[in-house]
Amino acid sequence: MELESILLSGISSQRPLIIAGPCSAETEEQVITTARGLADKGIKIFRAGIWKPRTKPGGFEGVGSEGFPWLQRVKKETGMYISTEVATHNHVLEAVKNGVDILWIGARTSANPFAMQEIADVLKEVGFTGPVLVKNPVNPDLDLWIGAMERIYNAGVRKIGAIHRGFSSYDKKLYRNLPQWHIPIELKRRFPNLPLISDPSHIGGKRELIAPLCQQAMDLNYDGLIIESHCDPDSAWSDKDQQVTPDVLSYILNLLVIRDTTQTTENLCELRQQIDELDSDLLAIISKRMRISKEIGQYKKEHNMPVLQTNRYDEILEKRISQAEKMGIGVPFMKTVLEAIHEESIRQQIEILSQEK
Ligand code: PEP
Ligand code: MN
Repeated sequence: MELESILLSGISSQRPLIIAGPCSAETEEQVITTARGLADKGIKIFRAGIWKPRTKPGGFEGVGSEGFPWLQRVKKETGMYISTEVATHNHVLEAVKNGVDILWIGARTSANPFAMQEIADVLKEVGFTGPVLVKNPVNPDLDLWIGAMERIYNAGVRKIGAIHRGFSSYDKKLYRNLPQWHIPIELKRRFPNLPLISDPSHIGGKRELIAPLCQQAMDLNYDGLIIESHCDPDSAWSDKDQQVTPDVLSYILNLLVIRDTTQTTENLCELRQQIDELDSDLLAIISKRMRISKEIGQYKKEHNMPVLQTNRYDEILEKRISQAEKMGIGVPFMKTVLEAIHEESIRQQIEILSQEK
């Protein structure tokens, strides 16, 4: 797949591209008041969910097609482009018929190849060429995300963008959806020209996390931001904890530091050389460690000992982590590294064990 599409052409070439609006269209008044507030702050693209995928039945599932005249008023009165989420054949027909400029596909839908194909087919049928923005699937599967975009691309859509909204996890800690930054970074590496948009509202799930998440996205060179904004967040019918007023949104955006992407990186040459050398040392050390671990595996086999010695592993973890802490290395990071190394050692030792004598 080429995906060399330029979403921004014809819409905006400014970085970051900003899409803002409520999680859901609730009432005509809420939609218009929010849109006016955003337009006053210079926002050019309005978002509002017309159909809402909710975790449990019985909640507010969106106003449905009744909301389209409200979006059309937004377009007419403020000049903003309008966008909404589509998840089915019928959603696409309705949205296109009602003049929606940008469609986005939600995280639950992009995880489902049947639904993606259904959407791709109807896009082709009605000749909608984009922009279509595809959120990452709820599960951290980069190929599934790319596959979803590929289906849209194959339907003739050339203006495609990816939205990073984080990944579901069983235990909710700081974030509502874990960012797993390496996944969008790898997407950007594979498709450098594919516009990448961050959705800090759904990653963070809390107002106070929007500003730092926006800054992080800018520092990682994302092309745009999609942020939930509501004229009265506390009384929102969905996602109220993560919505901000247009005024707060504008304040957050004005504080963002946008780095210069045209700067050359020549001055970094020397430092990068040092990184290359250190990486090469790191690989040599890991390889040496694996060799020794294999020797231990051989010994365990000859003495009929089990591969996993949990006491020893606990001791290693504890010691290394306290050492890392003293050296200013982040503890969760070090834990991840040690766990990965240990997992590989165990895998290799099991391989030795299963080899014929
Ligand atoms: C949304 O954008 O309101 C939404 C439902 O998002 P997601 O698909 O990321 O959960
Ligand atoms: Mn939402």
